[in-house]
Amino acid sequence: MVQVNSNYLKLKAGYLFPEIARRVKEFSDSNPQVDLIRLGIGDVTEPLPLACRDAMKAAIDEMGTASGFHGYGPEQGYLWLREAIATGDYQNRGCNISPDEIFVSDGSKCDSSNILDILGEGNSIAVTDPVYPVYVDSNVMTGRTGEIDKAGCYGGLTYLPINSENDFSAQIPREHLDIIYLCFPNNPTGAVATHKQLAKWVEYAQQNDSLILFDAAYEAFIQGEDLPRSIYEIEGARSCAIEFRSFSKNAGFTGTRCAFTVIPKSLKGKTLKGEQVDLWSLWNRRQSTKFNGVSYIVQRGAQAIYSPEGKKQVKQLIDFYMENAAIIRRSLSTAEFVIYGGEHAPYVWLKVPSGMDSWEFFDFLLHQANVVGTPGSGFGAAGEGYFRLSAFNSRSNVEKAMARIACL
Ligand SMILES: *Cc1c(COP(=O)(O)O)cnc(C)c1O
Repeated sequence: MVQVNSNYLKLKAGYLFPEIARRVKEFSDSNPQVDLIRLGIGDVTEPLPLACRDAMKAAIDEMGTASGFHGYGPEQGYLWLREAIATGDYQNRGCNISPDEIFVSDGSKCDSSNILDILGEGNSIAVTDPVYPVYVDSNVMTGRTGEIDKAGCYGGLTYLPINSENDFSAQIPREHLDIIYLCFPNNPTGAVATHKQLAKWVEYAQQNDSLILFDAAYEAFIQGEDLPRSIYEIEGARSCAIEFRSFSKNAGFTGTRCAFTVIPKSLKGKTLKGEQVDLWSLWNRRQSTKFNGVSYIVQRGAQAIYSPEGKKQVKQLIDFYMENAAIIRRSLSTAEFVIYGGEHAPYVWLKVPSGMDSWEFFDFLLHQANVVGTPGSGFGAAGEGYFRLSAFNSRSNVEKAMARIACL
């Protein structure tokens, strides 16, 4: 019989979202008349921007002509998209990132896990707790951790707790760590990092020769001009950070699939013998071998995000979700919940009322308000006692859900 990758057997049995689905199904099967409102899974709900749809339709028609047909594209993405990204997201904000440092992909979930392909097995790795589960599980699957303990923590990983005491910003570690995953604006806590906080991480990474894996999937939700939207707004980050970005949450591409990863050419790693190697070359090699690019049609759709019309429509989407978040924040505050996030992120993170744990509050909300959220403990042991509500829903559903919670 074939041997399996037994690292998969170390994974926590009940992954968060299947367990939520199971409990929701059980409830709706026995209460079929109930109108459930889902403020749980982090998927967008509003239609694709018109600018993107128009661009994709035009691309389809182009593909139907002999002269406009496109077969395999560059594994790194079409240059016109990488140029739009480099100018629109980086150079216009003073970041020195060039188009050839951008790798277009079909998602940040894949990129943030595939990146382990080019990183050695012996690195010490830190994640925040709570955390986006993909970072942890991809390390487990590739054999970079030990077994899970009773608290739900894997051996060999360093967990940096984020909670109300530290304002949901992990303390800079005292010990040496090789790889640190950071996500700002944060999923699940909705926290955002200031320039000063990110500068401390970059300083740490420089002093320790560490690599920061910076997930900026929610960058578009940052309000105002003072907060950093990219790690490369911090001086020195080009020598210690990889950034993941996605069109999933800003332009509603969760089902369309397009994202990108930035690897500065100045970013170095070392071999076991201590020789320097640039990570860009390894990732370029990896993508060229294992990836054949994102569809031409989808890349044309993504390019339209950077057009004047596209920018306006994306801003409308973000404003819409952020108004939902504001409604959630207001209603929960009035109902005397202790809440965090939701100001620069589509997630509101709340403290569950005393006497309940995260799953008990999940069941309470499901049964009493018919609202589905996400238990904080599903994002890590330190998420226990917290709960995530998402602003990704229609206005009427958000208002209805808040009215029900107000009546609890
Ligand atoms: C939604 C999300 C992403 C985006 O993933 P895609 O694969 O690009 O859809 C990345 N990181 C975090 C933390 C997310 O919540």
